[in-house]
Amino acid sequence: MRRGLCVVSRTGGGSSETRMSAGGSHREGSAQPRVLLRRLREVLARDHGGEERLQKIVRLTATNMVAEVCSIYLLGPEGDLVLRATEGLNPHSVGKATLPIGAGLVGRIAQTGEPINSSDAPNTPGFQYIPGTGEEIYQSFLGAPIRRQGRTLGVLVVQNRARRNYDEDELEALELIATVIAEMSDAGEFLRGDGPERKRATGPTMLRGVGAAEGVAIGRAVLHEPKIVLPDPIAEDGEKERARLHAAMREVRGDIDLLIAGVGMSSARGAEQLLSPGEHRDVLEAFRLFANDRGWLRRLEAAIDGGLAAEAAVEKVQADARARLEKTADPYLRDRLTDIDDLTNRLLRKLLGVAPPSPEDLPEDAILLARNLGPGELLEYGRGRLKGVALEEGSAGGHAAIVARALGIPLVTGLKGLIHASEPDDPVIIDGDVGRALLRPEGSIAQAYQEKLVLRAQEAELFKSLRDKPAVTRDGQAISLLMNAGLLTDLPGIAESGAEGVGLYRTELQYLVTTRAPRRDAQTQLYRKVLEAAGDKPVVFRTLDMGGDKQLPFLKGAAEENPALGWRAIRIALDRPLLFRMQLQALVRAGEGRSISVMFPMVASADEFLRAKQLLEIEQMRQVAEGKKAPKELRIGAMLETPALVFAPNCFFEEADFISVGGNDLMQFFFAADRGNDRVARRYDVLDTAFLRMLRIVVERCAEFDTPLSFCGEAAGKPLEAIGLIALGFTTLSMRPAGIGPVKRALQAVDLARTKAVLDEILSSDADSARPGLAAICEEMGVQL
Ligand code: PEP
Ligand code: MG
Repeated sequence: MRRGLCVVSRTGGGSSETRMSAGGSHREGSAQPRVLLRRLREVLARDHGGEERLQKIVRLTATNMVAEVCSIYLLGPEGDLVLRATEGLNPHSVGKATLPIGAGLVGRIAQTGEPINSSDAPNTPGFQYIPGTGEEIYQSFLGAPIRRQGRTLGVLVVQNRARRNYDEDELEALELIATVIAEMSDAGEFLRGDGPERKRATGPTMLRGVGAAEGVAIGRAVLHEPKIVLPDPIAEDGEKERARLHAAMREVRGDIDLLIAGVGMSSARGAEQLLSPGEHRDVLEAFRLFANDRGWLRRLEAAIDGGLAAEAAVEKVQADARARLEKTADPYLRDRLTDIDDLTNRLLRKLLGVAPPSPEDLPEDAILLARNLGPGELLEYGRGRLKGVALEEGSAGGHAAIVARALGIPLVTGLKGLIHASEPDDPVIIDGDVGRALLRPEGSIAQAYQEKLVLRAQEAELFKSLRDKPAVTRDGQAISLLMNAGLLTDLPGIAESGAEGVGLYRTELQYLVTTRAPRRDAQTQLYRKVLEAAGDKPVVFRTLDMGGDKQLPFLKGAAEENPALGWRAIRIALDRPLLFRMQLQALVRAGEGRSISVMFPMVASADEFLRAKQLLEIEQMRQVAEGKKAPKELRIGAMLETPALVFAPNCFFEEADFISVGGNDLMQFFFAADRGNDRVARRYDVLDTAFLRMLRIVVERCAEFDTPLSFCGEAAGKPLEAIGLIALGFTTLSMRPAGIGPVKRALQAVDLARTKAVLDEILSSDADSARPGLAAICEEMGVQL
């Protein structure tokens, strides 16, 4: 334990819980913050300018908390924290003393969003003395972040000479004052003319993010979050605020119930058809759980008891929850941020009587810009006029992304600084294919994207005409083009794309949004639906690939330092076979009387494959023994996603009925580059000659044992990469449905024998990448890439 330091824990059951556990009745300690806020209100009511107000706040806080120092640091134009008011430190350092975010205790509070309480500040790791302030004589330190709507605006600090421990009530008082300052700062009260608000870009701005739902959209910005300016963050009458809060809460819960019942969802009816009823319901049910969470209500009431108006209390609790959840690496918990934001927005709107932008009021070409978006909110906007969505946060695996894909709306997530840089009605382009948002694009760029859209529409027509034609190279090699799927909404793609079947059905996707483990019957029904949609086309089901970046809400393991290399997929299946066997039973039942293929993810040794295969065979035998219909043919294969399997004993290649290369993971493990980290993942390429040499070994070993081989990573859906793979010897590729048309068109123009010769030459040279050589031969052959 570090001496004298207490980074206030916010985890459930921790100090903040204890502090607020008496919610529901007025606690003894709440009197002090309430009195302080009331005085603050009186002071602020007098007509002072911004700087003078800040000075009044620090003076009042210092007196009330019996602190020798109270200081306010706010973000300056350069992104540093600037001392803007102080009682107790050198007054000449106001406006001059600065600290970068992350530096010193003050910078750390701004960075983490967590308060720091220390009785021995100078000896606390990270302490940094700010020259000229005279703070070296103060031992005790208590600081709280000034945050609003996910943005850090500054830090509020009290200090004392003597060593002392500040108690929970003092921390609470400081946090409440920080909330009041946050509300005022965001209203522009304290931000200088040259502050960050002024730096808002007005020219063309390009933001990079992550493409979470593909497609391009051109339109006008509609800001989702209400730009709320609170009339008064401090409340006179606590009872009245509680009553307002409860009334707003009731209305919000009622709205969610209506949403679940499907009433009032006129704009989301399209989505109803696209999402399976179970899936849609589960997403919203999880959301309802939040809305009814007692802990959340208690925290809101405690903030009101402390003297805040209901709106400010809602924002304070949101800021606390964000600070806590933003740090977690658990993608499921991070996605809960969306639910909190969604509920916060709904509550604020009810409290302020502000209607949300209704789908009918949206412009014809609306692009929705939000910090984050809950699935319920996106469903309410519906497909109608919404052309695209851009989010500052969010994740490709989040609920909103699932809904966006179901609605067929392009979505880009992770666009840092998006809201700050945008104004309502700004022209915006969203490129979900490459993960980019262009704000106020230059004429030539907008023109290029317009042309891209026209071209896309023309291409879509062309690909439609290719749909029923086989994929055959110019010199007569037939290639099987299959599609990857994982949601019920993907199934119409089997017919629409012209795929010859489903080469990879990711069974875990359906379960990423459910809070309970799906029952066997529900799984059986789901797999039947998939098989029905495929008709007589083949389907390859991949058993649950959970863990890594796909944390299933109902199967939580211990936190791991390297989840991608951890207890996941087939490893969980073999160690805890109950869930695995239930899935195998569902697959065997769904496949009755027909041919199905099942493969296992993340296999790293022949032994793992053989054990999983045996479990599946047992389930098949059991089905027969029970006199039930079993699949007519059951093919059992493995995904090849680990370099170890390339060099597995021969028995693996003999025993596998088929092998499918999962290039996404195989690349990540081959290059030791996290596929989810753009910084490293984008440096590596399927067409890197080292990777191709390894794939060639796989092709040769499969040929030796006559084991059917396919490739189902993302690269298969890109024309040049697909050509590289077939030149290597792959004859089956499985890809996202949208890739089938472009890949088929490209293959039809390829002279395979010539391309193979070129690739052989490249692989025996010193070239690092086959990309330039393959691109050159494709150009010669007139291949459209
Ligand atoms: C892969 O790893 O290439 C693959 C197809 O599986 P997933 O992307 O689902 O991990
Ligand atoms: Mg994989």
